[in-house]
Amino acid sequence: MDDFLRQLPHVDQTDIRLFAAAVSASSNGVVITDNSQPDEPIIYCNKAFEYLTGYTNKEIIGHNCRFLQDGDRDQEARNLLREAIAKGEHCQVEIRNYKKDGRLIWNELMISPVKDQDGNITNFIGIQNDITRRKEAEKALAAEKSYLEERVLERTQDLQYSEAYLSSIIETIRESLVVLNEHMQVLSVNDHFCRFFKIAQDDIKGKVLFEHNDGRWNLPELKNLLINVLPHNNPFEGFEIESEFPKIGRKLLVLNARQVTLKGKYQNRILLAIEDITERREIEQRKEDFISIASHEMKTPLTSIKGNLQLLQRKAQRNNDTQYSEGFATASKSILRLEKLIYDLLDVSKIQSGKVGFSFTTFNFTHLINEAVEGILATTQTHNIIVTGGSSQIEITADYGRLEQVLLNLLGNAIKYSPDGNSVKVHISILPGYLKVSITDTGVGIHERDHKRIFERFYRADQIAEKFPGVGIGLYVCNEIIKEHKGTLWVESAEGKGSVFSFTIPVNRS
Ligand code: ADP
Repeated sequence: MDDFLRQLPHVDQTDIRLFAAAVSASSNGVVITDNSQPDEPIIYCNKAFEYLTGYTNKEIIGHNCRFLQDGDRDQEARNLLREAIAKGEHCQVEIRNYKKDGRLIWNELMISPVKDQDGNITNFIGIQNDITRRKEAEKALAAEKSYLEERVLERTQDLQYSEAYLSSIIETIRESLVVLNEHMQVLSVNDHFCRFFKIAQDDIKGKVLFEHNDGRWNLPELKNLLINVLPHNNPFEGFEIESEFPKIGRKLLVLNARQVTLKGKYQNRILLAIEDITERREIEQRKEDFISIASHEMKTPLTSIKGNLQLLQRKAQRNNDTQYSEGFATASKSILRLEKLIYDLLDVSKIQSGKVGFSFTTFNFTHLINEAVEGILATTQTHNIIVTGGSSQIEITADYGRLEQVLLNLLGNAIKYSPDGNSVKVHISILPGYLKVSITDTGVGIHERDHKRIFERFYRADQIAEKFPGVGIGLYVCNEIIKEHKGTLWVESAEGKGSVFSFTIPVNRS
């Protein structure tokens, strides 16, 4: 090193030792090559260079620097270095070198030419900095990035697929769908909406729903419901609008709305589904009208048949004609069944049109129970009825006839649906302000999935429909009667395990 420095022009010989000590102590690897000699051999390297490469000084001196690349010759950095050396220029590259033990080191290499007084290049000084760690971190980062990019791509494809899947459902659905933002502006509508309301997407997109369709949606109750969907996550269902809409005329629509969720997270969007029930309601209305007219029309001839039958039965009894008398008695029973059915059907249509009249009086409840039990016992020879609970002094304000109708229905069902059972239990509980009546049978029972549905009009449980006669309106009527009394009617049952039908009613009407 000293020799090298000594050759350099303008170097104060007194500083030579200091320069030499500084270079030797540097933490960067330093090499000097002699470019005046063939194959530019290394003539100096410091300790850091030895440490960096794992070679000793004597294994380094005299070699061309290329030994550090081992077999890894095909590097762009080598071309850059070669060019710089040929032109005698400064150059900085990142090059892959290999330690003596074969391990890769990334070397940030800076080479600078040294020129003599005539400008000829005599040497090159190379400063090496080990950047292997940084490179590895960069590589790991790049791998992570590409992994993430791949995942993003996958997810995007997934999303595109689900979006396409979703929009194909939305577009084929036979319901109008609207997506609203928090300001009630329409963000999108499906094709069915456009076809149904005979408008183009662009005519509604971006508009505030309440201003659309000449203000047909601008109803205070609907506004209030929609405004509350987002802040309180308050969905609503079954809101009906009947209105004259431009281009499509009078329509009855039913609206459901809920906050949109995406991957379990609530979005600031409302999905409004609009179903046209105009036709369905018309058909229902026609069916109801038919039931009402038909049962009305049957009532009069039936009353006449019933009266005449009774007359004939009495005459046959007077003449001791047992054969006729029994025949008329059977016919009378059938007429009674038919009459009950007609009255039930009439009740259904009265309930539908809100025309059921109730007449409330105060009476002794035990008296009512006894009368209903007696009435039902007269129709059966197979079952007995056990009444428990209550007290002889229970006074209640209710519609006597309608409550008797409920009891007769429930007791009649208990007998009908327990063909093998011989006793039905009636229990009366006195509760604060309420009476509870439970009717227990040991019959065929009811599957849990039917517990709610049996109170619907014309619903009969599948598995019994063919075995037992009936039309499925008794419980519907009972439920409406109990509701009118501000009470509740429910069933507890399991298939094959019998049923308990219970209802509560307030003792006082107030
Ligand atoms: P119906 O007896 O004419 O079918 P209801 O309205 O009285 O009509 O009853 C509706 C349905 O409820 C019946 O079809 C039957 O499936 C079920 N159900 C009613 N009461 C009982 C009962 N006590 N045990 C088993 N099933 C019953």
